[in-house]
Amino acid sequence: MTTLPDAKLYIDGKLRDATGGRSYDLISPWTGEPVGKAADATKEDVEEAITAARRAFDETNWSSPENRQTRFELVKKLRELFQENYDRLGDLAVHEAGAARGAVDRAHVAMALDGWDDYLDVFKNVEWEKDYGEKNAFGAMHKRIAVREPVGVVAAITPWNVPLYVNIGKVVAALLAGCTVILKPAPDTPGAGAVFGELAEKAGFPKGVLNVVFGKDPAEAGEMLVQDPRVDLVSFTGSTAVGKHIMEEGGKTLKRVFLELGGKSAKIVLDDAPDFAMECAMTMLVFHAGQGCAVQSRLLVPKSRYEEAKAILKGAYGQFGDNWGDIDNPEHIMGPVISKKQMDRVMSYIELGKEEGATLLHGGNARPDKGGGFFIEPTVFVDVTNDMRIAQEEIFGPVLVVIPFEDDEDAIRIANESNYGLSGGVSSGDFDRAMNVARRVRTGSMSVNGGMCIAGDIPFGGYKASGIGREWGVEGIEEYTEIKMLAWPVGQAA
Ligand code: NAD
Repeated sequence: MTTLPDAKLYIDGKLRDATGGRSYDLISPWTGEPVGKAADATKEDVEEAITAARRAFDETNWSSPENRQTRFELVKKLRELFQENYDRLGDLAVHEAGAARGAVDRAHVAMALDGWDDYLDVFKNVEWEKDYGEKNAFGAMHKRIAVREPVGVVAAITPWNVPLYVNIGKVVAALLAGCTVILKPAPDTPGAGAVFGELAEKAGFPKGVLNVVFGKDPAEAGEMLVQDPRVDLVSFTGSTAVGKHIMEEGGKTLKRVFLELGGKSAKIVLDDAPDFAMECAMTMLVFHAGQGCAVQSRLLVPKSRYEEAKAILKGAYGQFGDNWGDIDNPEHIMGPVISKKQMDRVMSYIELGKEEGATLLHGGNARPDKGGGFFIEPTVFVDVTNDMRIAQEEIFGPVLVVIPFEDDEDAIRIANESNYGLSGGVSSGDFDRAMNVARRVRTGSMSVNGGMCIAGDIPFGGYKASGIGREWGVEGIEEYTEIKMLAWPVGQAA
């Protein structure tokens, strides 16, 4: 039985336990048993982290334009230390986040570190200064330039589903921009945050530039960060409900609020999709037990081929069978869901689907035979209408819903009749037809005929209730900056 190293806080350059030695048990999603211990930050610890980040921003040269290259080199050095800890990061993904071994590289470690490299690569494209030319005002000519400056102290509040990926998405971008950071990972996945503290210390980060706090209570530290006027920007990834609350609370101090929230993305398979069977089968919601914000959790298929789609899915789920849920199997891409709480939530949606009149085509059961953890079998509902709650609400588990449509207009309407707009996909043998559909779905990213629309060098984010702002790419770094205009009468500078 694996035991993870203790997850320690990192505050003002010190790796340490919580004040008074408070700690809590980390529960393995595989066994339901303790798998490690994490520091349980007190209010004093969070207060100290905010003070340290503020001081490092205001009183050191960390954020200055002259320090840009040094910041870049330090962030690069930290990236190298993460590489040296690759296996440990994989173990954290497995034992904390419940990632199956076959999912570790794709969404958890390799993809996250690739994203880090992309940030280092696009850093050179940040437009730190922009020339707006001259303009006549009141009879005199004025020269204008815009300069980008780091926004200040950033609180990065992150979820448990792909913790390393999201932590990197925020922390690396904010540091490159010149901000100081307080990372607040989810209570279930403190280790993927604690590793930043440990390795930042090794890399020689200046005191207070990066701080990591976490605790057993999901809300306490986050609330303090959102309410404190010394924090300039809250960068949050998590549920839409908490995101809304953060926006309201942050509004009291007019904080910048950057939100990456939930999704209920539609995959539209048009009637002329070249490999209709593969397109339907590929949408099986099994990878990391469906716990991804950008997963395509609504499959939209033409009414004329609905029965065929059902047969394909029945076959595909049947073939997937019991090939999941083994912690030692490197081929498995699906493990448990993260926690008892999440398991109860997903199971209640499965019950709701039945009550709403959808047909359970496959799955629907908890699987205690897989272990003492939180196992739910791959599940698919058909005969779903888009007004059902299982079609509208984010389940965040291995539950796919399949909805029929009449024609392209109907498919676009259904895809858009959602509060969310995070991602999606469309497949057709006619590229222009697919592009027409893709352009009309109101969502932050759309895969056309299998195109990969999520990567570290391009922006990612949501429309509507899926969020505000963009992570990754040069836009992801620029989120952590403010624009300042400078103007002077022409003739004063060379
Ligand atoms: P959550 O909203 O419950 O928690 C997210 C984070 O917010 C955690 O660190 C939690 O401790 C903290 N938090 C909780 N209450 C808070 C409060 N009142 N004030 C401040 N912070 C608070 O989400 P979760 O269950 O950890 O993660 C799953 C959700 O994350 C899903 O909805 C998923 O779609 C979303 N997600 C979105 C993206 C994206 O990029 N859009 C990526 C991954 C996950």
